Amino acid sequence: MKYVGAHVSASGGVENAPLNAHKIGARSFALFTKNQKQWLAKPFTAENIQKFKANCQEFGYSPDLILPHDSYLINLGNPVPENLTKSRNAFLDEMQRCEQLGLKLLNFHPGAHLKQISESQCLETIAESINMVLEKTRDVTAVIENTAGQGSNVGFKFEHLAAIIEMVDDKSRIGVCLDTCHTYTAGYNIKSEEGYISTFEEFDRIVGFNYLKGMHLNDSKKELGSRVDRHDSIGKGLMGIEVFRRIMNDPRFDNMPLILETPDDSLWEEEIKLLYSLQE
Ligand SMILES: [Zn+2]
Ligand SMILES: [Zn+2]
Repeated sequence: MKYVGAHVSASGGVENAPLNAHKIGARSFALFTKNQKQWLAKPFTAENIQKFKANCQEFGYSPDLILPHDSYLINLGNPVPENLTKSRNAFLDEMQRCEQLGLKLLNFHPGAHLKQISESQCLETIAESINMVLEKTRDVTAVIENTAGQGSNVGFKFEHLAAIIEMVDDKSRIGVCLDTCHTYTAGYNIKSEEGYISTFEEFDRIVGFNYLKGMHLNDSKKELGSRVDRHDSIGKGLMGIEVFRRIMNDPRFDNMPLILETPDDSLWEEEIKLLYSLQE
């Protein structure tokens, strides 16, 4: 079974996210549990938590189909010690917010070396950050998102994801989310049939499908290998529709959140229908 959804708004309270998802026919959803552009957030009230859980239950969103995304400010590989501490604290806070909501996954961008340390030092720092945060939490899996490799971001090669997982102590609470746009602009040609087959074979060999907890379904405004992260609406970008047809008919992507992060939210309802119409 495929669970296509979108990264919906939680404005006015986290409990609104499942309502917004239901309105567009989403079978899964992503959200920010706090303002993604600020370090600090007000704690949830008991009412926020109770209503969020009730709304998720009412509309059939189980915790494994909800993929919260962390703040864009967090860099778990930050080379500057005080900034790293700030990021680790903020990430811990986000993991705890997920726990309060009864959620099981937290999607995050691995981090950036800011040209001050090597790629491998950055990956080590990220793994250390994850270990510290997993030790202080219980139920939430940290889900690394692959990146386009823009700027000094790591995580654009499957080897980076594998290296982080390798250094994480609790393998039961580490996972991966593949963003189709990031995969393509990082240089994996999933647009062509051979490229699709070889990319996911490579992913399975290097990382393993057992770690895959969700996907972000986005088309791309930028070319293969451009290392630039610019999402486009499904079928309107450079990737074309065939890759999405393959994904929608590929059982390796069953039973996990498949999240649209496409730029025009007025199209989400239509895009969800379009994706389901591709199923054979
Ligand atoms: Zn992301
Ligand atoms: Zn994404």
